[in-house]
Amino acid sequence: MDHTKEEEFTKDEPILAARIIPSEEHNITPELIDRDALFILKKLAGAGYAGYLVGGGVRDLYLGKTPKDFDISTDARPGQLRKLFPHSNTIGRRFRLVQVFFKAGKTIEISTLRSLSEHDIDGPQEVLAPNNTFGTLSEDARRRDLTINSLFYEIITGTIIDYVGGTEDLDRGIIRIGGEPARRIGRDPVRMMRAIRHAARNNFSIEAGTWKAICAHSNELSLCPPSRLRDEFLKDLYGGAAHPWFLLAVDSGIFTNLFPFYSIILMNQDNFDQRKVLLENIFHTIDRANSLAVQQNIHRQPDFFLFAFILVPWVEARWQLFSEFRKSSVLFQLANQIRDEVDRSIGIRLNLRRSLRQDMVGLLINLSLLIHNKTPSGWPKWLKRKSYFRKATLFYHFYTEALTGEAIADEVLITDTPPRPLESLQPSPGRATPEEEKHSPSKCKPAFSSNTKGGIFGFKR
Ligand code: ATP
Ligand code: MG
Repeated sequence: MDHTKEEEFTKDEPILAARIIPSEEHNITPELIDRDALFILKKLAGAGYAGYLVGGGVRDLYLGKTPKDFDISTDARPGQLRKLFPHSNTIGRRFRLVQVFFKAGKTIEISTLRSLSEHDIDGPQEVLAPNNTFGTLSEDARRRDLTINSLFYEIITGTIIDYVGGTEDLDRGIIRIGGEPARRIGRDPVRMMRAIRHAARNNFSIEAGTWKAICAHSNELSLCPPSRLRDEFLKDLYGGAAHPWFLLAVDSGIFTNLFPFYSIILMNQDNFDQRKVLLENIFHTIDRANSLAVQQNIHRQPDFFLFAFILVPWVEARWQLFSEFRKSSVLFQLANQIRDEVDRSIGIRLNLRRSLRQDMVGLLINLSLLIHNKTPSGWPKWLKRKSYFRKATLFYHFYTEALTGEAIADEVLITDTPPRPLESLQPSPGRATPEEEKHSPSKCKPAFSSNTKGGIFGFKR
């Protein structure tokens, strides 16, 4: 009956005893926990159930960061949870999770301790029998992705319960896939993306065995549902560490698995290849724009905008979209070709919705228009009157920053409405042609790579 657990963990793997870290030896206190999560934990305890803060909540609090969400695990069954929390709902097919509803649309998820992850493939595909779904605390720790995500915090005693060496890895700044990495990746390849995400976000090293397994199995990402890959990728795109993520994704092979059309460009041994430098700079600009938007509490750019931005070096390499002048009629015919290829490639790979694909291509075509119609005094009136002009101008500024490697004014990067006349905002007024702009060595220096440990595409810590 337990054969699936044996697949998840190798038979010869030692069963670790938990390390209990008392409250005086760590910095997590109940005051740091979200009020509603605390309410759930106390209510569980009051009803005689065990309740733990788990996953990213414990990881981030341990590191002194503010968690994005607070997940809770308990030994209470979904039916018992529904009775305890009337404002709740049960979700999940294979594993039942209970969502508890709070004011303003806020929800907190409570899961019953279990021995398998809902994403494990090759395991039972159907809803598991109830006696097969639930597990012990140590089993629950061992089904999780990374050791640093497998900790439990218990509010009554204030202790952290660590079955997998997660606190030591947090202390040492190490990302490690729990159990045998290759096997755990085989069961759910998305764990590779989660490993590089947390390494990038926290500037942690990836443990050698985990890194080796990721590099060897990166092509298995294609086994995952495209919409899941898209959602995971979006977390990295907007997570504030897209640039370090990109470096790890390239080195591990994950990037070319998500964006196969970048293989040829990225395989080029010349790290100063302008297209490579541009692609890397694009991720740097994305981080800068996102963090500015967060600081100023304004909307970040939508997904089609950032996706289009990432495609810039590819559409240039494939169609010379920005370096070659084309008449509008030719440009709009080319748009159909680009759209077809986008549909066939990442459209399918990441299950991008139709409107997103259309908006992406529209933005790229408009960028070409803006580049080729720019004069030393700005853009012609007919272009300024177009409904797409504002968005296209913003995209132009993003592009300019990535292309030149020179930071443009913060306010230009975060708004569609430039506060000063456009001309005065150009990083290098008086540029003659886009061709010159692209190929001038001084403009194309890899401005951001000096911050990159180990060279532009060098191996990361
Ligand atoms: P974030 O700060 O992005 O929310 P997180 O680690 O909390 O990070 P979640 O997606 O909220 O990420 O997942 C919550 C927890 O569920 C994780 O910390 C981990 O313990 C577990 N988990 C998530 N995805 C997987 C997976 N693919 N395999 C095993 N465990 C997973
Ligand atoms: Mg989380």
